[in-house]
Amino acid sequence: MRIVETPTETYDVIIVGAGFAGMTASRELSNRGWKTLILEGRDRIGGRTWTDKRFGRDLEMGGTWVHWSQPHVWAEIMRYGLEITSSPRAKVAYWFEGGELKKGPSLYTNLDEAFQMFIQDSREHIPLPYDPLQSPTIKDIDKLSIKERLDELDLDPVTYDLFKNFWEAVSNGSTETAGYSMALRWYSLAMHDWRLMLETLATYKLAKGTKALLESIARDSTADIRFSTTVARVEKGEGGYEVYTKDAGPFKTKAVIVTLPINVLHKIAFAPALSKQKQLAASEGQTSRGMKFWAKLRGKYEPFAAYAPAGSAISNCHYEYEANGDSIIVGFGPDAAMLDPNDLVAIQKEIRRWFPNADVLASTGHNWVADEFSEQTWFFEKSNHQTRYLAELQRPEEGVFLSGADYASGWAGMIDGAIESGLAVSQKVQQYLDF
Ligand SMILES: Cc1cc2nc3c(=O)[nH]c(=O)nc-3n(C[C@H](O)[C@H](O)[C@H](O)COP(=O)(O)OP(=O)(O)OC[C@H]3O[C@@H](n4cnc5c(N)ncnc54)[C@H](O)[C@@H]3O)c2cc1C
Repeated sequence: MRIVETPTETYDVIIVGAGFAGMTASRELSNRGWKTLILEGRDRIGGRTWTDKRFGRDLEMGGTWVHWSQPHVWAEIMRYGLEITSSPRAKVAYWFEGGELKKGPSLYTNLDEAFQMFIQDSREHIPLPYDPLQSPTIKDIDKLSIKERLDELDLDPVTYDLFKNFWEAVSNGSTETAGYSMALRWYSLAMHDWRLMLETLATYKLAKGTKALLESIARDSTADIRFSTTVARVEKGEGGYEVYTKDAGPFKTKAVIVTLPINVLHKIAFAPALSKQKQLAASEGQTSRGMKFWAKLRGKYEPFAAYAPAGSAISNCHYEYEANGDSIIVGFGPDAAMLDPNDLVAIQKEIRRWFPNADVLASTGHNWVADEFSEQTWFFEKSNHQTRYLAELQRPEEGVFLSGADYASGWAGMIDGAIESGLAVSQKVQQYLDF
């Protein structure tokens, strides 16, 4: 890839955003000989993945875990020969029952029955996860939020609360908006096995960080890239498109791929405007509005997983690394407004729910919800989104294409979905340019 300051030529394709979707598309299209330019608002590649140095080591501020049940990211990992490592297996779990702290080998064995009830008939509802709209019952299940589905089940109050907390963690937001069909889509992708789903979402990671995969893709791309360039407008012009920032442009191109997270899609003015359905999808947004934090705790902890009651500022956290006799843990909360990952005192107060003597030496994280380039963490559909908007969001409008984890068919919301979408859209752009 080549960094350019003032691109003057006309490009075949301009890609807005250098996350996994944009980087994948740039490699595919530039390698096929199309003149490709990426315009990226931040001063780095990676988007919602960001391997940064904190506490004297590499820590992932955003996307982290990957799995061989995710075919697109796994193909990339194999292609570049990257090493995978496992997060430590928890030796002990902590959770609450009616306000009382409990400890045991694993919380999930207690929840097996609830998981089975929750996903009942998932094979019937979503037999083909890459084509969820084909199912005759998809409309009925897509209406339901996760909370509505939980309310349908006859769960005792303790299990209900633990399960609600679980889905607050998975959707990184409220179960009242999180769509049940999104949960079933992930189940279906994980062969209808909730254990495999959990393993997929939070066990294996790239030994040298997500940046190792991004850098491999970048080395393979011959696209131009311009950083710190926030696109504000995309206009159809003579023989193609003109792309503008607030104070620069036009950058000229035949086709445009826009990879913005759905919560910030409205920040680009399109002329002609995007379809009404796309605009509606963008204005409704998605569920996640949560946070991820890292904390360094004094002393050695045995690998643990800790779960809070539903509605807590931290849904769950677990041990991740040993650091010179201290412990580094990672965790998630459903609402970034409730807890600032950099507020050590507040983080310590929360962690003391499980460990009353915990001494938090440092805490850190990135507020993705306050970040102008994301305003969300990972995409988690709201109810009705799949049936109302998915097909339309994937439909190009002449030379304008949306791409990203938020518009993926399979593992939407994940790194895998971003790569899947980058590959699929590249193919569509190729056909458009060939025509
Ligand atoms: C805290 C957190 C934890 C996560 N954990 C996991 C995980 O463990 N496993 C997993 O698979 N996924 C995880 N994800 C999700 C995963 O990181 C994302 O789904 C994926 O990286 C999205 O890639 P993308 O290319 O679709 O979008 P992005 O990475 O968001 O890329 C879009 C790019 O567009 C740029 N941009 C935005 N607006 C403009 C503009 N106006 N002009 C120019 N550029 C602009 C952005 O800066 C960004 O670089 C997590 C995400 C977060 C935030």
